[in-house]
Amino acid sequence: MPVLVMKFGGTSVANLDRIRRAAKRVGVEVAKGYDVIVIVSAMSGKTNELVGWVGETSPLYDAREYDAVVSSGENVTAGLMALTLQQMDVPARSWQGWQVPVRTTSAHSTARILDISPDNLMAKFGEGMRVAVVAGFQGVSPEGRITTLGRGGSDTTAVAFAAALNAERCDIYTDVDGVYTTDPRISSKARKLDRIAYEEMLELASLGAKVLQTRSVELAMRYNVKLRVLSSFEEQSDDAGTLVCAEEEIMESNVVTGIAYSRDEAKMTLLSVADQPGIAAAIFGPLSEAGVNVDMIIQNISEDGRTDMTFSCPTDQVARAEKALKDAVAAGNIDYGDLIIDGAVAKVSAVGIGMRSQSGVAAQMFRTLRDEGINIKVIATSEIKISVLIDRKYMELAVQALHDTFELDKVG
Ligand code: ASP
Ligand code: MG
Repeated sequence: MPVLVMKFGGTSVANLDRIRRAAKRVGVEVAKGYDVIVIVSAMSGKTNELVGWVGETSPLYDAREYDAVVSSGENVTAGLMALTLQQMDVPARSWQGWQVPVRTTSAHSTARILDISPDNLMAKFGEGMRVAVVAGFQGVSPEGRITTLGRGGSDTTAVAFAAALNAERCDIYTDVDGVYTTDPRISSKARKLDRIAYEEMLELASLGAKVLQTRSVELAMRYNVKLRVLSSFEEQSDDAGTLVCAEEEIMESNVVTGIAYSRDEAKMTLLSVADQPGIAAAIFGPLSEAGVNVDMIIQNISEDGRTDMTFSCPTDQVARAEKALKDAVAAGNIDYGDLIIDGAVAKVSAVGIGMRSQSGVAAQMFRTLRDEGINIKVIATSEIKISVLIDRKYMELAVQALHDTFELDKVG
Protein backbone atom coordinates (compact mmCIF):
# COMPACT_ATOMS: atom_id res chain seq x y z
CA MET A 1 0.00 0.00 0.00
CA PRO A 2 1.21 3.55 -0.60
CA VAL A 3 2.69 5.23 2.46
CA LEU A 4 1.90 8.75 3.63
CA VAL A 5 3.70 10.62 6.39
CA MET A 6 1.60 13.08 8.39
CA LYS A 7 3.33 15.26 10.97
CA PHE A 8 1.40 17.18 13.62
CA GLY A 9 3.12 20.08 15.37
CA GLY A 10 2.62 21.12 18.98
CA THR A 11 -0.43 23.31 18.43
CA SER A 12 -2.13 20.51 16.46
CA VAL A 13 -1.85 18.13 19.44
CA ALA A 14 -2.12 20.76 22.19
CA ASN A 15 -5.00 18.99 23.99
CA LEU A 16 -7.22 15.93 23.68
CA ASP A 17 -9.72 17.72 21.46
CA ARG A 18 -7.05 18.68 18.99
CA ILE A 19 -5.58 15.20 19.05
CA ARG A 20 -9.05 13.91 18.15
CA ARG A 21 -9.29 16.40 15.33
CA ALA A 22 -5.86 15.37 14.02
CA ALA A 23 -6.76 11.69 14.32
CA LYS A 24 -9.84 12.30 12.16
CA ARG A 25 -7.60 13.61 9.40
CA VAL A 26 -5.45 10.52 9.71
CA GLY A 27 -8.60 8.40 9.46
CA VAL A 28 -9.50 10.09 6.17
CA GLU A 29 -6.15 9.15 4.64
CA VAL A 30 -6.36 5.59 5.96
CA ALA A 31 -9.79 5.29 4.33
CA LYS A 32 -8.21 6.33 1.03
CA GLY A 33 -5.96 3.29 1.30
CA TYR A 34 -2.74 4.74 2.70
CA ASP A 35 -0.60 3.15 5.36
CA VAL A 36 0.15 6.20 7.48
CA ILE A 37 3.13 7.16 9.58
CA VAL A 38 2.08 9.87 11.97
CA ILE A 39 4.88 11.90 13.53
CA VAL A 40 3.88 13.91 16.57
CA SER A 41 5.44 16.83 18.42
CA ALA A 42 4.93 17.36 22.12
CA MET A 43 1.87 19.37 23.17
CA SER A 44 2.67 23.05 22.56
CA GLY A 45 4.65 24.58 25.40
CA LYS A 46 5.58 21.17 26.81
CA THR A 47 9.13 21.05 25.50
CA ASN A 48 9.83 24.54 26.84
CA GLU A 49 8.58 23.44 30.22
CA LEU A 50 10.80 20.36 30.20
CA VAL A 51 13.82 22.40 29.12
CA GLY A 52 13.08 24.79 31.99
CA TRP A 53 12.92 21.98 34.52
CA VAL A 54 16.27 20.63 33.41
CA GLY A 55 17.89 24.06 33.73
CA GLU A 56 16.40 24.61 37.18
CA THR A 57 17.60 21.26 38.40
CA SER A 58 21.10 21.49 37.03
CA PRO A 59 22.50 24.59 35.33
CA LEU A 60 25.44 22.66 33.85
CA TYR A 61 23.38 19.63 32.98
CA ASP A 62 24.43 16.26 31.61
CA ALA A 63 23.24 16.43 28.00
CA ARG A 64 22.21 12.76 28.04
CA GLU A 65 19.76 13.40 30.84
CA TYR A 66 18.57 16.59 29.16
CA ASP A 67 17.59 14.43 26.19
CA ALA A 68 15.98 11.82 28.44
CA VAL A 69 13.74 14.51 29.93
CA VAL A 70 13.13 16.72 26.92
CA SER A 71 12.22 13.85 24.58
CA SER A 72 9.40 12.73 26.87
CA GLY A 73 6.77 15.21 25.65
CA GLU A 74 6.55 13.35 22.35
CA ASN A 75 6.08 10.00 24.11
CA VAL A 76 2.89 11.30 25.68
CA THR A 77 1.35 12.59 22.45
CA ALA A 78 2.36 9.46 20.52
CA GLY A 79 0.57 7.22 23.01
CA LEU A 80 -2.49 9.46 23.17
CA MET A 81 -2.72 9.66 19.38
CA ALA A 82 -2.50 5.86 19.08
CA LEU A 83 -5.23 5.47 21.70
CA THR A 84 -7.44 8.01 19.93
CA LEU A 85 -7.05 6.18 16.62
CA GLN A 86 -7.85 2.87 18.29
CA GLN A 87 -11.04 4.47 19.64
CA MET A 88 -11.93 5.18 16.02
CA ASP A 89 -11.28 1.52 15.13
CA VAL A 90 -8.13 2.38 13.21
CA PRO A 91 -5.41 -0.22 13.93
CA ALA A 92 -2.63 1.93 15.35
CA ARG A 93 0.25 1.73 17.78
CA SER A 94 2.85 4.14 19.08
CA TRP A 95 6.61 3.93 18.56
CA GLN A 96 9.35 5.71 20.43
CA GLY A 97 12.49 6.50 18.46
CA TRP A 98 14.54 3.63 19.86
CA GLN A 99 11.82 1.09 19.08
CA VAL A 100 11.85 1.77 15.34
CA PRO A 101 14.89 2.32 15.65
CA VAL A 102 15.82 5.85 14.57
CA ARG A 103 19.62 5.73 14.83
CA THR A 104 21.36 9.04 15.41
CA THR A 105 24.77 10.45 16.22
CA SER A 106 25.59 10.90 19.89
CA ALA A 107 25.58 14.71 19.69
CA HIS A 108 23.01 15.08 22.46
CA SER A 109 20.41 17.84 21.96
CA THR A 110 21.56 18.35 18.35
CA ALA A 111 21.83 14.79 17.08
CA ARG A 112 21.60 13.93 13.40
CA ILE A 113 19.72 10.96 12.05
CA LEU A 114 22.08 8.29 10.69
CA ASP A 115 19.45 5.87 9.50
CA ILE A 116 15.96 4.57 10.03
CA SER A 117 15.37 0.84 9.71
CA PRO A 118 11.92 0.31 8.21
CA ASP A 119 11.82 -3.45 8.91
CA ASN A 120 9.96 -3.38 12.24
CA LEU A 121 7.38 -0.93 10.93
CA MET A 122 6.91 -2.83 7.67
CA ALA A 123 6.43 -6.10 9.54
CA LYS A 124 3.65 -4.52 11.63
CA PHE A 125 2.02 -2.98 8.56
CA GLY A 126 2.12 -6.50 7.11
CA GLU A 127 0.22 -7.74 10.15
CA GLY A 128 -2.58 -5.22 9.69
CA MET A 129 -1.38 -2.10 11.51
CA ARG A 130 -2.59 0.89 9.48
CA VAL A 131 -1.01 3.74 11.42
CA ALA A 132 2.38 3.91 13.12
CA VAL A 133 2.43 6.86 15.47
CA VAL A 134 6.07 7.80 15.96
CA ALA A 135 7.37 10.19 18.60
CA GLY A 136 9.14 12.94 16.67
CA PHE A 137 12.35 14.73 17.65
CA GLN A 138 14.05 11.68 19.21
CA GLY A 139 16.31 8.76 18.40
CA VAL A 140 18.90 6.50 19.91
CA SER A 141 22.69 6.95 19.90
CA PRO A 142 25.25 4.25 19.10
CA GLU A 143 25.75 4.04 22.88
CA GLY A 144 22.08 3.20 23.32
CA ARG A 145 21.10 6.54 24.90
CA ILE A 146 18.06 8.63 23.94
CA THR A 147 18.93 11.62 21.76
CA THR A 148 17.03 14.64 20.46
CA LEU A 149 17.40 16.39 17.13
CA GLY A 150 17.38 20.06 18.11
CA ARG A 151 14.35 22.31 18.59
CA GLY A 152 11.77 21.87 15.88
CA GLY A 153 13.33 18.50 15.11
CA SER A 154 10.14 16.54 14.55
CA ASP A 155 9.91 18.11 11.07
CA THR A 156 13.20 16.37 10.36
CA THR A 157 11.91 13.10 11.83
CA ALA A 158 8.95 13.32 9.45
CA VAL A 159 11.03 13.92 6.33
CA ALA A 160 13.50 11.19 7.31
CA PHE A 161 10.64 8.69 7.60
CA ALA A 162 9.21 9.80 4.27
CA ALA A 163 12.60 9.19 2.66
CA ALA A 164 13.24 5.87 4.41
CA LEU A 165 9.80 4.47 3.56
CA ASN A 166 9.52 6.00 0.15
CA ALA A 167 6.34 7.84 1.11
CA GLU A 168 4.20 9.42 -1.54
CA ARG A 169 4.29 12.72 0.37
CA CYS A 170 5.10 14.20 3.74
CA ASP A 171 2.34 16.44 5.08
CA ILE A 172 3.36 18.85 7.82
CA TYR A 173 0.31 20.00 9.78
CA THR A 174 0.87 23.23 11.65
CA ASP A 175 -0.97 26.36 12.79
CA VAL A 176 -0.42 28.33 9.58
CA ASP A 177 -2.02 27.38 6.30
CA GLY A 178 1.17 27.43 4.27
CA VAL A 179 4.28 29.36 3.32
CA TYR A 180 3.73 33.04 2.57
CA THR A 181 5.54 35.54 0.38
CA THR A 182 6.42 37.31 3.60
CA ASP A 183 5.24 37.45 7.19
CA PRO A 184 1.51 38.34 7.06
CA ARG A 185 1.90 40.17 10.37
CA ILE A 186 4.23 42.61 8.66
CA SER A 187 2.63 42.97 5.24
CA SER A 188 -1.12 42.65 4.87
CA LYS A 189 -0.48 41.90 1.19
CA ALA A 190 1.42 38.69 1.96
CA ARG A 191 0.13 35.87 -0.24
CA LYS A 192 0.15 32.16 0.37
CA LEU A 193 2.32 30.31 -2.13
CA ASP A 194 0.93 27.18 -3.79
CA ARG A 195 4.44 25.90 -4.47
CA ILE A 196 7.94 26.81 -3.47
CA ALA A 197 11.25 25.26 -4.52
CA TYR A 198 13.43 23.47 -1.97
CA GLU A 199 16.25 25.99 -2.44
CA GLU A 200 13.93 28.90 -1.83
CA MET A 201 12.40 27.28 1.22
CA LEU A 202 15.89 26.65 2.58
CA GLU A 203 16.73 30.32 2.26
CA LEU A 204 13.44 31.34 3.82
CA ALA A 205 13.72 28.76 6.61
CA SER A 206 17.21 29.81 7.59
CA LEU A 207 16.32 33.47 7.21
CA GLY A 208 13.82 33.26 10.00
CA ALA A 209 10.56 32.13 8.44
CA LYS A 210 10.03 29.57 11.18
CA VAL A 211 7.65 27.19 9.44
CA LEU A 212 10.03 24.25 9.00
CA GLN A 213 13.24 23.18 10.65
CA THR A 214 16.02 23.99 8.18
CA ARG A 215 17.46 20.52 8.33
CA SER A 216 14.16 18.98 7.34
CA VAL A 217 14.20 20.99 4.11
CA GLU A 218 17.80 19.98 3.38
CA LEU A 219 16.81 16.38 3.81
CA ALA A 220 13.71 16.74 1.66
CA MET A 221 15.82 18.27 -1.09
CA ARG A 222 18.46 15.54 -0.90
CA TYR A 223 15.91 12.72 -1.10
CA ASN A 224 13.37 14.52 -3.25
CA VAL A 225 10.61 14.18 -0.67
CA LYS A 226 7.47 16.12 -1.57
CA LEU A 227 6.70 18.23 1.45
CA ARG A 228 3.37 19.89 2.05
CA VAL A 229 2.85 22.51 4.76
CA LEU A 230 -0.77 22.94 5.78
CA SER A 231 -3.02 23.93 8.64
CA SER A 232 -4.70 21.37 10.83
CA PHE A 233 -7.37 23.93 11.63
CA GLU A 234 -8.80 24.35 8.15
CA GLU A 235 -11.01 22.21 5.97
CA GLN A 236 -9.23 19.19 4.53
CA SER A 237 -8.62 19.30 0.79
CA ASP A 238 -6.11 17.81 -1.60
CA ASP A 239 -4.57 21.07 -2.73
CA ALA A 240 -4.47 22.89 0.60
CA GLY A 241 -1.28 24.42 1.93
CA THR A 242 2.04 24.93 0.18
CA LEU A 243 3.96 22.22 -1.63
CA VAL A 244 7.75 22.37 -1.21
CA CYS A 245 9.15 20.61 -4.25
CA ALA A 246 11.79 20.55 -6.98
CA GLU A 247 11.88 23.68 -9.10
CA GLU A 248 11.04 21.69 -12.24
CA GLU A 249 7.63 21.13 -10.72
CA ILE A 250 6.90 24.83 -10.51
CA MET A 251 5.35 26.25 -13.64
CA GLU A 252 4.84 29.89 -12.96
CA SER A 253 6.81 31.95 -10.55
CA ASN A 254 7.91 35.50 -9.90
CA VAL A 255 11.55 36.50 -10.08
CA VAL A 256 11.41 37.09 -6.36
CA THR A 257 9.42 34.52 -4.39
CA GLY A 258 9.61 35.87 -0.88
CA ILE A 259 10.92 38.58 1.41
CA ALA A 260 12.45 37.22 4.58
CA TYR A 261 13.78 39.02 7.61
CA SER A 262 15.70 38.39 10.72
CA ARG A 263 15.18 40.94 13.44
CA ASP A 264 17.88 40.24 15.99
CA GLU A 265 21.12 40.81 14.16
CA ALA A 266 24.23 42.63 15.28
CA LYS A 267 27.03 44.14 13.27
CA MET A 268 30.57 44.08 14.61
CA THR A 269 33.48 45.95 13.07
CA LEU A 270 37.14 45.47 13.86
CA LEU A 271 38.98 48.67 13.01
CA SER A 272 42.52 48.57 11.77
CA VAL A 273 43.47 44.93 11.62
CA ALA A 274 46.65 43.88 9.84
CA ASP A 275 45.98 43.15 6.15
CA GLN A 276 48.12 40.06 5.70
CA PRO A 277 47.68 36.37 4.85
CA GLY A 278 45.99 34.45 7.63
CA ILE A 279 44.20 37.38 9.24
CA ALA A 280 40.68 36.20 8.36
CA ALA A 281 41.53 32.75 9.68
CA ALA A 282 42.88 34.27 12.90
CA ILE A 283 39.64 36.23 13.43
CA PHE A 284 36.97 33.80 12.29
CA GLY A 285 38.61 30.63 13.58
CA PRO A 286 38.17 31.57 17.25
CA LEU A 287 34.68 32.94 16.55
CA SER A 288 33.58 29.63 15.09
CA GLU A 289 35.18 27.71 17.94
CA ALA A 290 33.22 29.89 20.35
CA GLY A 291 30.01 28.86 18.56
CA VAL A 292 29.34 32.25 16.96
CA ASN A 293 27.26 31.94 13.79
CA VAL A 294 28.89 34.54 11.62
CA ASP A 295 26.68 35.44 8.68
CA MET A 296 27.79 38.34 6.47
CA ILE A 297 31.42 39.39 6.22
CA ILE A 298 33.01 42.38 4.54
CA GLN A 299 36.60 43.45 4.42
CA ASN A 300 37.38 47.00 3.39
CA ILE A 301 40.19 48.09 1.11
CA SER A 302 43.33 48.61 3.11
CA GLU A 303 45.52 51.59 3.75
CA ASP A 304 49.10 51.30 4.99
CA GLY A 305 48.72 47.56 5.52
CA ARG A 306 45.70 47.93 7.83
CA THR A 307 42.08 47.22 7.02
CA ASP A 308 38.62 47.09 8.65
CA MET A 309 36.69 43.85 8.98
CA THR A 310 32.92 43.80 9.52
CA PHE A 311 30.71 40.82 10.22
CA SER A 312 27.21 40.12 11.45
CA CYS A 313 25.90 37.58 13.93
CA PRO A 314 22.77 37.09 16.08
CA THR A 315 22.51 39.67 18.90
CA ASP A 316 22.54 37.03 21.61
CA GLN A 317 25.99 35.92 20.46
CA VAL A 318 27.63 39.34 20.67
CA ALA A 319 29.03 38.79 24.17
CA ARG A 320 30.50 35.46 23.15
CA ALA A 321 32.01 36.97 20.02
CA GLU A 322 33.51 39.85 21.96
CA LYS A 323 35.12 37.47 24.43
CA ALA A 324 36.53 35.25 21.68
CA LEU A 325 38.08 38.29 19.99
CA LYS A 326 39.56 39.66 23.21
CA ASP A 327 40.99 36.23 24.04
CA ALA A 328 42.57 36.10 20.59
CA VAL A 329 44.15 39.51 21.22
CA ALA A 330 45.43 38.38 24.63
CA ALA A 331 46.92 35.28 23.02
CA GLY A 332 48.74 37.52 20.56
CA ASN A 333 46.95 36.05 17.51
CA ILE A 334 45.28 39.24 16.30
CA ASP A 335 45.38 42.93 17.06
CA TYR A 336 42.98 45.68 16.14
CA GLY A 337 42.45 49.33 16.88
CA ASP A 338 38.87 49.26 18.10
CA LEU A 339 35.77 47.09 18.14
CA ILE A 340 32.52 48.78 17.16
CA ILE A 341 29.28 46.97 17.93
CA ASP A 342 25.95 47.92 16.41
CA GLY A 343 23.36 45.77 18.16
CA ALA A 344 20.32 47.36 16.52
CA VAL A 345 20.31 46.03 12.98
CA ALA A 346 18.06 43.65 11.09
CA LYS A 347 18.55 41.63 7.94
CA VAL A 348 16.06 41.77 5.10
CA SER A 349 16.39 39.44 2.13
CA ALA A 350 14.77 38.91 -1.24
CA VAL A 351 14.75 35.26 -2.30
CA GLY A 352 13.86 33.65 -5.62
CA ILE A 353 15.23 31.09 -8.06
CA GLY A 354 14.17 33.44 -10.85
CA MET A 355 17.16 35.64 -9.96
CA ARG A 356 19.45 33.12 -11.60
CA SER A 357 18.20 34.10 -15.01
CA GLN A 358 17.08 37.68 -14.50
CA SER A 359 19.34 40.59 -13.71
CA GLY A 360 18.40 43.88 -12.13
CA VAL A 361 16.86 42.52 -8.95
CA ALA A 362 19.58 43.94 -6.74
CA ALA A 363 19.35 47.35 -8.40
CA GLN A 364 15.59 47.42 -7.94
CA MET A 365 15.97 46.42 -4.30
CA PHE A 366 18.50 49.20 -3.63
CA ARG A 367 16.37 51.82 -5.41
CA THR A 368 13.36 50.84 -3.36
CA LEU A 369 15.27 51.19 -0.10
CA ARG A 370 16.68 54.51 -1.26
CA ASP A 371 13.18 55.80 -2.02
CA GLU A 372 12.19 54.95 1.55
CA GLY A 373 15.28 56.72 2.87
CA ILE A 374 16.70 53.51 4.33
CA ASN A 375 20.46 53.26 4.58
CA ILE A 376 22.07 49.93 3.69
CA LYS A 377 24.91 48.92 6.01
CA VAL A 378 26.02 45.59 4.59
CA ILE A 379 25.07 43.72 1.41
CA ALA A 380 25.47 40.03 0.69
CA THR A 381 24.31 38.05 -2.31
CA SER A 382 24.05 34.47 -3.41
CA GLU A 383 22.68 32.96 -6.59
CA ILE A 384 19.08 33.18 -5.41
CA LYS A 385 19.21 35.74 -2.60
CA ILE A 386 20.10 39.34 -1.86
CA SER A 387 20.37 40.34 1.77
CA VAL A 388 20.90 43.75 3.33
CA LEU A 389 21.60 44.80 6.86
CA ILE A 390 19.68 47.92 7.89
CA ASP A 391 18.69 49.76 11.07
CA ARG A 392 16.21 47.57 12.92
CA LYS A 393 13.67 50.37 13.24
CA TYR A 394 13.16 50.34 9.46
CA MET A 395 12.76 46.59 9.13
CA GLU A 396 8.96 46.49 8.75
CA LEU A 397 9.03 49.36 6.30
CA ALA A 398 11.70 47.65 4.20
CA VAL A 399 9.80 44.36 4.10
CA GLN A 400 6.59 46.11 3.02
CA ALA A 401 8.29 48.25 0.39
CA LEU A 402 10.14 45.29 -1.12
CA HIS A 403 7.02 43.14 -1.12
CA ASP A 404 5.29 45.95 -3.02
CA THR A 405 8.03 46.66 -5.52
CA PHE A 406 8.37 43.00 -6.54
CA GLU A 407 4.56 42.70 -6.65
CA LEU A 408 4.53 39.56 -4.60
CA ASP A 409 0.82 39.92 -3.96
CA LYS A 410 0.28 38.87 -7.59
CA VAL A 411 0.92 35.47 -9.10
CA GLY A 412 3.83 35.63 -11.57
N1 ASP B 1 8.86 19.37 20.67
C1 ASP B 1 10.12 19.75 20.08
C2 ASP B 1 10.28 21.25 20.13
O1 ASP B 1 9.41 21.92 20.65
C3 ASP B 1 10.29 19.24 18.71
C4 ASP B 1 9.24 19.71 17.72
O2 ASP B 1 8.14 20.06 18.09
O3 ASP B 1 9.53 19.71 16.53
O4 ASP B 1 11.26 21.76 19.71
MG1 MG C 1 7.88 23.25 14.46
